[in-house]
Order: sequence, then structure tokens, then C-alpha cells
Amino acid sequence: MRLCTFDNGQGPLTGVIEGDGVLPLRDTVEMVDLIRRGAGWAPAAQALPLMSVRLLAPIVPKRNVFCVGWNYAEHFAEDKIRPANAAQEIPEHPALFTKNPFAIIGPDAAIRYPAPISEQLDYEVELAVVIGTQGRDIAERDALDHVFGYTIANDVSVRNVQRTWHGGQWFKGKNFDTHLPLGPWIVTKDEIPDPQTLRLTTRVNGVTKQDSNTKHMVFEVARIIAELSAGLTLHPGDVIITGTPAGVGMHRTPPEWLKPGDVVELEIERIGVLRNVIERGV
Ligand code: MG
Repeated sequence: MRLCTFDNGQGPLTGVIEGDGVLPLRDTVEMVDLIRRGAGWAPAAQALPLMSVRLLAPIVPKRNVFCVGWNYAEHFAEDKIRPANAAQEIPEHPALFTKNPFAIIGPDAAIRYPAPISEQLDYEVELAVVIGTQGRDIAERDALDHVFGYTIANDVSVRNVQRTWHGGQWFKGKNFDTHLPLGPWIVTKDEIPDPQTLRLTTRVNGVTKQDSNTKHMVFEVARIIAELSAGLTLHPGDVIITGTPAGVGMHRTPPEWLKPGDVVELEIERIGVLRNVIERGV
């Protein structure tokens, strides 16, 4: 099932996508509430044409989005300019940081160009995991039972701010307004029984820049959930983004930064395409 959040001119609604239509869900406004409710969703009988509505981010969690850094070995290897205090070998535990939910935007929305603060704007395609059931100290073997579904995230990054400003941690450079596109919808986990088999790609203005597969994750989705939930309760509607493969702009020769007018398309097998455009002044 593909679940979306959309605006038909009367505010945000949740819906089920079927073919080229969307069936609005009655009595439910926010995706997090729908996930908490767990069952008993009632789609309207009449579908709206998908072309007639504006898709929004499928979910905006109630707290920060959990993020994994350096989770593909090739991306770790290409990152040869790690600060001296950073791990030089793939660590025993995943690198974790967060992005705040006010940074989230939906499909086709504009990504803010950060000049004059910086011109080092970069993309990162990532599989996003939506938690369905609460848990703490979740065992790796049980972890996928806590998943509700999957969507696509762009972990947009302002590289010099991320890497060299503000104490050498990543929070500020990863949290500019609009720098977390999510979507275009959530695919429920029954349609993705194994999240470690998905091709994921990035295209900038139609040119492929990242092309990998979730099978290359260092820490797989189940392990990430186990690590994150150790002593920390995960709640329905929490979102975890799972790291990006090689090919980001920062590590191209010469580096390639996103510019106003650029079209960024992220595609993950079995989910879809998340498209956004870079703009000044949004
Ligand atoms: Mg990332």
C-alpha cells in the first residue's frame, strides 16, 4: 500500500494511492496519528486524480529525524578528508545525528540555496524507515517487526558548515530550512519484505550521480533499529534515515555543488522518485 499526505486546496489530508488516483482517508489528518491508530482506516469511495492534488511530505514526525552517517563502505572510503578526530576506520557502532522536523519538505517543493552563507550545497539519497510500533532495547532479529514502511529522503547538506563549523559536529550543516525532502509517499513494509535489496540512485538535471543498492549498507536497517532503540524508546511515526552511498557532490573531482535551478531526482526501487528543485530565497 502506498500512503500519502496531500493538499487538495482544503488543507493536508492523508490518502491511499491506487493507480493514478488517491483515495482520501476519513477522520485522519496526520500520518503519525494514522500510524498510531494502527488499523481501521476508512478510505473514501471516490478517488481524486493524483494530478489534481499536491503531494506533501508523507510524514512529519513529532521529534527529530534520526540519521545515520557513513553507512555505505564506498562513501566512507571516498570521504578521505575526515577531520583528525573522526573515525578513520568503519566504527563498531553507526554514526548518529538528527535533523529537525521543521526542515522537512515534500515532493516538488523547493530546496533553499544557502548563499551567501555557503555555496557548498549537496545531495544524499537515503532509504527512510518509518517506525510502526513502539519499542526499546529491540533485538535485531525482531527489528523489522517494528517498521511501518519506507520512503525516500534527501539528506541535503551544507558541507563546509557541516564539516568545519560549530564544533566539528554535523547538526547545523544538516539542518537548514527545507533541507530534508521526504516522499513521495510511504510504501508499507508488506511490499518491501527485504529492505536490503533496493537500488537507489540520484540524478541531477538528468545525469546519474549516485547509483548503489541498500545491500551495501554497513549497518542494515535491523541493526540500526537495534542500536538506536538501546535505552531509547522508538515511537510510532518516528523516522530514521539510513545513510547515503558514494557519489555525493563533495567527493566528485572537481567537487560539484548544487545550484539554483538544478533538478534533483532521487529514486529507490519499489518506492518511487522524489524530485525537488534548488531555489534562492525560499
Ligand atoms: Mg546522510
